[in-house]
Amino acid sequence: MNSRTALLIVFTGDGKGKTTAALGMALRAAGHGMKVLVLQFIKGAWTYGELLSVKKIEEIEIRPLGTGFTWKKENLEEDRRLAEAGWREAVSHIRRASYDMIVLDELNIVLSLGLLPLETVLEGLESRTTSHIVVTGRNAPEKLIAAADLVTEMKVVKHPFQDRGLKASKGIEF
Ligand code: ATP
Ligand code: MG
Repeated sequence: MNSRTALLIVFTGDGKGKTTAALGMALRAAGHGMKVLVLQFIKGAWTYGELLSVKKIEEIEIRPLGTGFTWKKENLEEDRRLAEAGWREAVSHIRRASYDMIVLDELNIVLSLGLLPLETVLEGLESRTTSHIVVTGRNAPEKLIAAADLVTEMKVVKHPFQDRGLKASKGIEF
């Protein structure tokens, strides 16, 4: 039996709630005085509310990985460079256990785009000692699911983008 207490947690699936579930745990951990780092591997077009809220919570740091992380085909080399830099930062914190919880938001997307080698990432995640790690994003690789301690797949039952053609709502999507 593995006696390591640091959990590897994965939130995946097509339904909404992956990133916000990770942020919910970050909020919960911060209440216990635990230090949390959130690395955002994909930078969206909006000002996400969480970037503003965490300024009020000193235990949680959110770091978007570079500006211009656009995932356009013509920027593939730039995306790869940013993904690698983000991963180097993540793995150094994992090895040093400098945070109690490390959220790697949308890392699954980076992996499914082939911007980071899966085996390298799995090795890095495996090197955790006392930091809980939370990975989010659709299409979690099978090997990551196999390595994880806790995996939840969000499933779409209804979504207003699909069913009502609604745009993103403040406080809900961003
Ligand atoms: P959240 O950040 O709200 O927890 P998420 O991390 O699960 O969502 P992502 O896959 O990162 O979701 O997608 C970002 C946004 O895309 C979500 O806020 C979600 O509302 C939206 N979205 C677009 N289309 C759909 C869909 N068909 N089903 C669910 N969410 C969708
Ligand atoms: Mg997300």
